[in-house]
Amino acid sequence: GGAAEPPPRLVLDLERLTQVPSEKAGPLQRYAATIQSQRGDYNGKVLSIRQDDLRTLAVIYDQSPSILTEQLISWGVLNSDARRAVREEDA
Ligand code: C2E
Ligand code: C2E
Ligand code: C2E
Repeated sequence: GGAAEPPPRLVLDLERLTQVPSEKAGPLQRYAATIQSQRGDYNGKVLSIRQDDLRTLAVIYDQSPSILTEQLISWGVLNSDARRAVREEDA
């Protein structure tokens, strides 16, 4: 990507995340809860995560980062601007 463009923020919707069935969302729910606990950040409706965390989650879900990103967006738990993060990574 161009140096002028900041990387997209990855923002999880924590309320939405509680509504996704845990067969699907369980690993992400546990991962987000771990980050909240490490930060002491318990009261947010959303949680900003690291670009690296998306890569880690892709390993956990045994998917490519771009496929996982599409899944999380379709569940409504990830902002759609996050697509730009995996595109830049693929490029
Ligand atoms: P750490 O990675 O050694 O970061 C120590 C502190 O540096 C963090 O304390 C935070 O105040 C600041 N910090 C580091 N990277 C960033 C960043 O990208 N943005 C902002 N705003 N601050 C940053 P904090 O928040 O209490 O986190 C404690 C530890 O919890 C971190 O130690 C890290 O090991 C873990 N952690 C917290 N949030 C995340 C996360 O989103 N992803 C991952 N992988 N680990 C996290
Ligand atoms: P923003 O990044 O667009 O975030 C908007 C609001 O979403 C934040 O308002 C906060 O209520 C919520 N939010 C976003 N990420 C998190 C998260 O990981 N945990 C929690 N609990 N809430 C989150 P807030 O706190 O008033 O911040 C307003 C703006 O100030 C942010 O807009 C951002 O531009 C800046 N800001 C706040 N904290 C940080 C930070 O740690 N690092 C940087 N670089 N900017 C920050
Ligand atoms: P942010 O705070 O606006 O940070 C934007 C980017 O600046 C981070 O993207 C990272 O590349 C860099 N950065 C900021 N602070 C540090 C730092 O202390 N050490 C290092 N090595 N890099 C830093 P990244 O990693 O993708 O994180 C995206 C957002 O996720 C951060 O936006 C912040 O809202 C949240 N975040 C990530 N890690 C932590 C953390 O450890 N603690 C907290 N409280 N928030 C974090």
